[in-house]
Amino acid sequence: MMRVGILGGGQLARMMALAGAPLGLQFRILDVSRDACAAQFAPQIVADYTDRDALERFAAEVDVATFDFENVPAESARFLAERLPVFPNPKALALAQDRLHEKTLFRELGMGTAEFAAVEHLEELRAATARIGFPCVLKTRRLGYDGKGQYRLYSAADIEPAFAELGHAPLILEAFVAFQREVSVVAVRSRQGEFRAWPLTQNWHASGILSASLAPAPDPEGLADKAFAAAERLAHQLDYVGVFALELFDLGGGEFLVNEMAPRVHNSGHWTQQGAMTCQFANHLRAVVGLPLGSTELLAPTVMLNWVGDLPARETILEYRRGYFHDYGKTPRAGRKVGHANIVGATHDELADELERLADRLDRHAQIDPVLKVLR
Ligand code: AMP
Repeated sequence: MMRVGILGGGQLARMMALAGAPLGLQFRILDVSRDACAAQFAPQIVADYTDRDALERFAAEVDVATFDFENVPAESARFLAERLPVFPNPKALALAQDRLHEKTLFRELGMGTAEFAAVEHLEELRAATARIGFPCVLKTRRLGYDGKGQYRLYSAADIEPAFAELGHAPLILEAFVAFQREVSVVAVRSRQGEFRAWPLTQNWHASGILSASLAPAPDPEGLADKAFAAAERLAHQLDYVGVFALELFDLGGGEFLVNEMAPRVHNSGHWTQQGAMTCQFANHLRAVVGLPLGSTELLAPTVMLNWVGDLPARETILEYRRGYFHDYGKTPRAGRKVGHANIVGATHDELADELERLADRLDRHAQIDPVLKVLR
């Protein structure tokens, strides 16, 4: 029996545990929160990620460790890696935790990124805005997610307020990218170095949080193959093992810029639970425990709708025979991801018809109409 330890006990760990059960895997989680939703399916050690005694106990109870949370201190990941196999490796995790290092590596690997500059002081911010121009986005280098730790600057008047809000931590200033759409590559690499990517996914955000995904993303300009090649280069360079996501800004004409890498299963890969031959959670576990990877082929076009703040009635989704409901077992709270639905279509037209019905039924036009526009 293989025991997998997961640092972080949120919905990603929960869905890993569910996907790992048929593989005969057992799970332990370590999370500081007493109501971690993965603990409904796996025994939890309640402790801070920096608690050496707890990490030691955790290491003794599992055969391999992985993450549902990318901001586990790299030092803790290294501590564990001295005791047991840890995937992705702590170096890859550390790289993805720092936007400056990450973008620097993307550039070294020949990938386009927004213009960027490191910023530590107000004067550096002034100089950086002079070079990069407005609009631009100031971000904390570390610990940002779902649009948190970001400030958009439209003119010189925004420099001081932006720095007052974020200047307590090392920062990166990025040019604002006037992208046509956002897409992501969700991919997996095995311990043996085999690389597979799921079909390209198109994503929509609301208030910095993923709102909907469509797979496969329409790709009239042949962006997917270039994006997969970039993801593969990156995975090999980092000797990455497991699932990761590469978030891209599509500029049109088959050109794209890389925004960031998520070193874990990713919200924009949730559609794979019903829309692909093997879901991201199962393939992440296969990679981590050293099993052969499953096919990432598309089964049918799928739309993922995120439930942020509250859940609609399950029946609204389940009434449709290709509708799948995922409840994370969390207490609803504003801005919190509490679940998602995967809506699968036999055809694009059927998918669009169903989304039209759902937009009315759920009164969620703002969330669903942008997806419908692409499908119709
Ligand atoms: P991030 O935390 O970097 O993934 O940013 C969250 C979201 O903010 C992205 O998905 C984009 O919608 C938007 N965003 C981030 N950086 C930029 C940028 N440089 N230009 C335009 N939009 C951005």
